[in-house]
Amino acid sequence: MLKAFFIHQYARLRARLHTPMSECIFCKIVNNEMPATVVYRDEQVTAFRDIHPAAPTHILIVPNRHIDSVNALTAEDESLAGRLLTVAGQLAVREGIAETGYRIVTNTGPHGGQTVFHLHVHLIGGQPMRHPMG
Ligand code: 5GP
Ligand code: ZN
Repeated sequence: MLKAFFIHQYARLRARLHTPMSECIFCKIVNNEMPATVVYRDEQVTAFRDIHPAAPTHILIVPNRHIDSVNALTAEDESLAGRLLTVAGQLAVREGIAETGYRIVTNTGPHGGQTVFHLHVHLIGGQPMRHPMG
């Protein structure tokens, strides 16, 4: 009885802390279960336009596999983490903002302002970025 109570409380806490992958909007976009303007896709990453663009170019690059945030990256994810950046650079060229410049942001956790807990890189450009950060 007591054991069942603690298992129940643990499950409730876990559900509050982590969005189940089946409910993750970016997993749904990767799996074509939710519409998005996808601009790039390969076996490792998917890139699509942010639904609320902060600048003329605002693209999100995400791993196809669910990873909560930078906090959950391991040494085995190093090539995947690098892929997110190189794809961001390639998309900047394709968007015509490589020369004028752009900002790459990965918000992490509450203080970082992360709102979607599926790791993503924001590629933002097409206008001068505001300063300071933070
Ligand atoms: P974060 O705040 O976690 O750094 O960034 C999440 C981003 O995802 C926000 O810029 C937000 O506008 C974007 N976003 C949230 N929901 C959706 C959605 O359903 N589709 C797309 N394309 N972007 C979304
Ligand atoms: Zn996900």
